[in-house]
Amino acid sequence: MTLTNIAPTAELQALDAAHHMHPFTANAALGAKGARIITRASGVRLTDSDGAELIDGMAGLWCVNIGYGREELAEAAARQMRELPYYNTFFQTSHVPALTLAARLAELAPGDLNHVFFAGSGSEANDTNIRMVRQYWALKGQPERRTIIARRNGYHGSTMGGGSLGGMAAMHAQGGLPIPGIVHIDQPYWWGEGGDMTPEAFGLARARQLEEKILELGVENVAAFIAEPVQGAGGVIIPPDSYWPEIQRIVDKYGILLIADEVITGFGRLGHWFGSQSYDIRPHIMTIAKGLSSGYQPIGGSIVCDEVAHTIAQDEFNHGYTYSGHPVAAAVALENLRIMEEEGIVARVQSETAPYLAKAWASLADHPLVGEAVSRGMMASLALTPDKASRARFASDPGTVGFVAREYSFGNNLVMRHVGDRLIIAPPLVITPDDIDALISRARKTLDQTHDHLRREGMLQAAA
Ligand SMILES: *Cc1c(COP(=O)(O)O)cnc(C)c1O
Repeated sequence: MTLTNIAPTAELQALDAAHHMHPFTANAALGAKGARIITRASGVRLTDSDGAELIDGMAGLWCVNIGYGREELAEAAARQMRELPYYNTFFQTSHVPALTLAARLAELAPGDLNHVFFAGSGSEANDTNIRMVRQYWALKGQPERRTIIARRNGYHGSTMGGGSLGGMAAMHAQGGLPIPGIVHIDQPYWWGEGGDMTPEAFGLARARQLEEKILELGVENVAAFIAEPVQGAGGVIIPPDSYWPEIQRIVDKYGILLIADEVITGFGRLGHWFGSQSYDIRPHIMTIAKGLSSGYQPIGGSIVCDEVAHTIAQDEFNHGYTYSGHPVAAAVALENLRIMEEEGIVARVQSETAPYLAKAWASLADHPLVGEAVSRGMMASLALTPDKASRARFASDPGTVGFVAREYSFGNNLVMRHVGDRLIIAPPLVITPDDIDALISRARKTLDQTHDHLRREGMLQAAA
C-alpha cells in the first residue's frame, strides 16, 4: 500500500474506518461519519485532504510549540538517522544526542533539577516517576512511603500508571484503574466548584485538602504529590493565585516529594521555560514531553533533583525503555530547543504573544454563552453556560453543548477542543497577532452559531 495524500477523501476515510482504532474515540460513530484527514501543515495552519485550511488552535495535542514545517528539525532527524539511528543506553554505553540533551535540560531547568531519565512519552515518564519516588523512599529506609496523592480531573497520561495518577472519571471507569497506592484530592476549579467562596479562599481550601489527605494517610505512608501547574486536558483549569503557595507550604512542611507534570506547561507555554517558574514552585521532579520536541518526535522524560537522583544512583534502578533517549528524538529535541532559544520564543510569549492572546480571548466574555474567558500564557478556555450570573450548568449531559460548539468550530476551520462544556485552546507559541485575530473571529462565530443552535433546539435550560 502506498502512502498518498491524493486518494479521494472518501477512500481514505473508508480505510481509516475499517482498520484504524482511534484513541479516545467511539470508533463506530466516527467510522460512520468519517474522520477529517489532515495531509499537510505549515506554521499554525493545517490542510485537509479536501484542501481546506484550518487554524490549529491546539498545536496538535498541546505540543507543536514552534509550529509546523520547520526544515531544521527534518534536517536534524535525517542527519542523526544517517549517523546513528539507534543505540541503547542500558548496558554501559551512551550517545551524544542523549547526553547532550540531558545536559541542556539541566541547564534550562530551575534549581538543582540536574538529571534526566528519558522516556518515549509523557505517560511513560509518569510511570517512571511512580517507580522512582517509591524506590527513592525505599533507599531512604522508608519503603512504606508508597502512596502518591494526585487530583481528580488531573491528566497524567494513559498508561496504567499515568491513567491512575490522572483523575479522569471516564478513564477510571474502564480497565480497572486506578492501580493501588494512588489517591486523589479535588481540583482547584473555582468556576465549576467554588460555590459562594471567593477564588482566593477556594484555592486555599482545595490546597488544604492535600494536608488533610497526608494526615489521614499518615505522612509516613506518603511518597509524593503530583499535579499539573495548570490543568490541561481537564479543561484548562487555572488555579486561584492562593493555590500553589499553599501547596508548596504543605509539601515543605511534611517533606513529601513534589512532582510537577510539565508535559504541557513546559517549554514556554506559560511564558517561562517551565510552568513551575511561572508559579514559583520547587518540584523535585518535573515530567516533560510534548513541547520538548514540539511534537516532531515522540520523546518524554523526568527531570530530577540532585537529592533524588543521587539516592536512586546508589543502586541499580530496574527500569527503562528501549527508546529511552532515542538518538533521533533527542537530536530533534535539541534542535527544537536551539530554535526556541535563538528566536527568543519563550521571552516573546511572555512579553507579547500571551498578553495579546489574553486581551483578545477575554473579549469573548461578553458573549451571552460565555461564563468565563480565561487564559494563562498560551493556554485559554471558555466556560459555556446558560446563565452567567449563577455559573449554571446546562440541563443536558455534560459535554453535549461543548460537542455542538466544537463541531461548529471545526466547520469554521478552527481547531478548538471541548472538555465537557468548556472550550479550550493552546495554539503554537509562534502564532502571530494577525492569526490570533483570525482565531478569535472564528471562535466568536462559533459561539454565535452554537447559541442559535441551542435556542433552536431548546437546549438553553440550566440544570436544576
Ligand atoms: C499529554 C499529557 C501527558 C501524557 O503524555 P503522552 O505523551 O500522551 O503519553 C501527561 N501529562 C500531561 C499533563 C499531559 O498533558
